[in-house]
Amino acid sequence: MGHLQLPPGKKIAVNLGTDFDAQALWLGAFNRPSPSAMSRGQFGAEVGVPRLLELYRRYEVTTTWFTPGHSVDTFPEQCRAVLEAGHEFGHHGYYHEVPPGLERDTERRLVDLAFESFKNVLGLRPTGYRSPYWDYSENTLDIIEESGFTYDTSLMARDLEPYRPQRWQVNWEKANVAGKASHVLEIPVNWYLDDFPPLAYTGPQAGMQDTETILRRWQDIFDYAYQNVENPVYATCVHPQIIGQAHHMMWYEKLIQHIVSHDGVWFATCDEIARAWVDDEEDERKMALPDVRGVEPAPADSSWARQA
Ligand SMILES: [Zn+2]
Repeated sequence: MGHLQLPPGKKIAVNLGTDFDAQALWLGAFNRPSPSAMSRGQFGAEVGVPRLLELYRRYEVTTTWFTPGHSVDTFPEQCRAVLEAGHEFGHHGYYHEVPPGLERDTERRLVDLAFESFKNVLGLRPTGYRSPYWDYSENTLDIIEESGFTYDTSLMARDLEPYRPQRWQVNWEKANVAGKASHVLEIPVNWYLDDFPPLAYTGPQAGMQDTETILRRWQDIFDYAYQNVENPVYATCVHPQIIGQAHHMMWYEKLIQHIVSHDGVWFATCDEIARAWVDDEEDERKMALPDVRGVEPAPADSSWARQA
């Protein structure tokens, strides 16, 4: 596997990824366009974003804001403030759609629709993609490659290092086969480093965990990376409408204070991290593998086929 070429004197790349989902989250991920859900998205834009921009400014954090086209169109003023503060925008779908449930043409159309929002409102074209649901359809990686993205950040085959994501041919009663790796670099996400599952109340999901527990977990992952992994990347994910809550801002600042108490921290955008990646021979070999892929149907006598 290749490696990150960190800038001189730097020991760890840190991306405090910020997913500015706003109201699109409740539309695309939950199909819940109620006044209350919209007000939570509005809180993210109008309260969470300014709080985060102020926090990032104080600690000289530059990062990537993965933002659905719907948020760009609905909250252009907040997006311009993010851009003016020197942050990167990443592509995050249009209405926070769930890629595994979409036909190819629809998925492509929504990717292009969001590109239009970024162009029209902010005059830019993102170089990276984060799947709104951290999951792919069978077409997503193709669409990412066709769209010219240089990096993706939706998958989890590593935790503290980027890698070249591979397609898999999935079989039931014989081994899966690893296929051609993508030239799009994967900067992995991690559910343990996402504020939403432990801290967002959705009804079925309690989301009321103690912030000290989350702080300890996120610090432990940082410390492990810093102490045990060469040229690591520590990439987290927060949502302005969740982390922007008063008590969450308190622990998030404590996390940043923990990070900056270490030598050699490189706060980087995902685009900067992707450009610092150097392939090795194993990466080259994986990128030259045959393009095998697809999922074999469940065997007729399996419990899954019998239930269907
Ligand atoms: Zn999201």
